[in-house]
This record gives sequence, structure tokens and C-alpha cells, in this order.
Amino acid sequence: MSLNLLDFDAEGLTAWFAQEGEKPFRARQVLRWMHQFGRDDFDAMTDIAKSLREKLKGKAVVAPPPLMSDKRSDDGTRKFLFDVGSGNAVETVFIPEDDRGTLCVSTQAGCALDCAFCSTGKQGFNRNLTTAEIIGQVWQANRVLGATPKDERIISNVVLMGMGEPLANFANVVPALRLMLDDNAYGLSRRRVTVSTSGIMPAIDRLGDTVPVALAVSLHAPDDALRDRLVPLNRKYPLAELMAACRRYLDKSPRDFITFEYVMLDGINDSDAHARALLALVRQVPAKFNLIPFNPFPRTEFRRSRPERIRRFQEILLDAGYVTTQRKTRGDDIDAACGQLAGQVRDKSRRTIPLTQQGAMA
Ligand code: SAH
Ligand code: SF4
Repeated sequence: MSLNLLDFDAEGLTAWFAQEGEKPFRARQVLRWMHQFGRDDFDAMTDIAKSLREKLKGKAVVAPPPLMSDKRSDDGTRKFLFDVGSGNAVETVFIPEDDRGTLCVSTQAGCALDCAFCSTGKQGFNRNLTTAEIIGQVWQANRVLGATPKDERIISNVVLMGMGEPLANFANVVPALRLMLDDNAYGLSRRRVTVSTSGIMPAIDRLGDTVPVALAVSLHAPDDALRDRLVPLNRKYPLAELMAACRRYLDKSPRDFITFEYVMLDGINDSDAHARALLALVRQVPAKFNLIPFNPFPRTEFRRSRPERIRRFQEILLDAGYVTTQRKTRGDDIDAACGQLAGQVRDKSRRTIPLTQQGAMA
């Protein structure tokens, strides 16, 4: 099988080129052709000697995951579905706003962590995405959205908040993050790339040591008893440990706060007392809150908190001096809102929902 050059970050590509007796600057040229100019054909790489082009054609490919569908929401949000083989497909969402364009990228086919309120989690887990499949979502979105190197800011921000838990796929996520930051690839600043995690405590430290980008932590509950229920991973890494890891991360982070995501579940985690407990919990961690109105999906037991409840919850956090935003529900008419991403997952872990109901958005 040919090597997929989208699997390499700059260092990896340079190492492979060296092994092939080629100079590092050649690797940088190829990196730019692939990621800045969006090329997948070696013949288009015109400043590279024909002999090297022929050699690359014989040994390697540039192969992003194929686009299966592209849906457009009334609010301008776009949802892409990518084929990652063996009956699995993952989703990527582009959210245009006045001052930025955010691409929400998937990192796994499914997710093994099984948060109670998450559609991806309910589908089970198939496998980790490769680096090529992760960065390939950015590559393809740039192409579909018509980005050119001069107009690179169509995608100004990337968030790893699609399907899957990024820190459970550390080895493949890190080179993808490096490519997002690389000036020969997507050239985004660390502050504009965000990893969202449900709280894999040791991997938060590793991320800080390896490629510190902005960090969002999916909190959803202010105490262990409730969080154990909503985010089962909490039983392994309880809140005290998670908060300590967040504090350590701030020494490395490009931002001076952690974003805490909090999904608003009617009657479950949305009382005034929960808001006050949340304030007590994060006392030691400079924080920003992002409240996410729960997005329902078929056969969920949860309901979205009422708007006035969310506002009151937000007020309590604001009054305590915290920047607290409410995430706009974007793209929900095409099931592209947070937690609605379903893709297609051939579950290998367990089967809570029959596969026949999983392709609903296809
Ligand atoms: N696995 C990572 C990133 C993907 S989930 C994580 O959990 O952080 C991205 C965000 O969507 C998380 O904050 C998650 O808690 C939230 N989310 C999941 N299901 C949701 C739903 N049904 N409604 C609203 N937000 C949801
Ligand atoms: Fe996985 Fe995140 Fe969904 Fe939890 S919320 S099941 S960690 S994708």
C-alpha cells in the first residue's frame, strides 16, 4: 500500500524524505503544495523536479477521506460527511460568523466514553481516525469552501469538538495539530486551535508538554456524584484531579484561561445551586464558561433547559465575574449542532442503538 503523505507533519515528512535521500526543503515544498494549495496530484507540484515527482508517484499518495455529502443549514452552517471506510463515516461542521470561520473536526469514528447526553457516545466506538483523516477534513473543507492561499482565513479557527474524544487518540491528533499550526501548512495561531476534552487527565498534561493549544474541558456537573452519571470517565479521573490538571495546563497554554463547557440539561444540572457549586469548584482555575443548550437526538431521556433558566444560570456566573457565553445553536436543522453528530459508526464496543438507525442523516 502506498504511503499517505497527509499522515505526516513537517518533521515526519522530512524524516521520510531523508530516508529517500531527499533534502528537507523538498519536504517543505511538498507540504505547501498539499496543505496551502490543496493539491493531491504530484504532477501539479511544478517546482519539483520531474524525477522526484515520478518517485513520489510510485511510492506515495495524497489521500484525504472522500466527501460523501455536504449539507447547508439556513443559518449558513455547513455539514460535511466523510467516508472513512468499512462502513464508517464522520462529520465535520463549518460555522461561518462575521469575524471568523470555525471548522469543527472529528477525531474518532464514534466515541467509547459514552457520555449520557451525547449522540456520538450513544453510537459506540469503531476506531481512531488517522492523522490523514483528521487533517484531511481541514484539507477537504478548504477545497469545498474555495479557500486559496491568499484567502486562507475562510477557516480561521479549528476546534476538535466533532465526533470522538481527541485526547483518546493522542498519537494521531498531535501531528494533525502540528499541521494546523505549521506555517507551511495551515498557519493558525495556537490560540485559534482548540482541543475539547471530557477530561482525560494524564493526556491534558501530555498535550501541554507536546503541543499546547487552547483547551476546552467538558465539565457539565459541579460535583462528582452528578458528573459520574453524565460523564462516566469521571469515575476514573474525578473533579479534583481534573481541576489540578487544568491548573497545570495554564502554565503552558496560549490562553490564560480554560474554557469550561457545560451542557444545560433541564432539571439535571441547571439549578442556582449547581451554578454556585460550579463557582466553588473552579475557584483555583482562571476560567471562561460556555453554556451549551442541550441538543436533543432520537430517544434521549434529556431535555434542554428553558431559556430563562439558562439565562439565570449564566447571570450567576457573570455576577461572579466570569466571562460566560451561551453557545448559539447553529445548524440544528441539519443535525449539525453540538452533540448531534452521528456520522455512521460500526460499533465494535457495544450496541445501544441498532445500526439501522444510525444513518439517519445520510
Ligand atoms: N469528546 C470531546 C469533544 C467532542 S464533544 C468532549 O467531550 O469534549 C463536543 C462538545 O459537545 C462537548 O462539550 C460535549 O459535551 C458537547 N455535547 C455532547 N452532546 C451534546 C448534546 N446532545 N447537546 C449539546 N452539547 C453536547
Ligand atoms: Fe465522547 Fe465527547 Fe460525546 Fe462524551 S461528549 S461521548 S467524550 S464525544
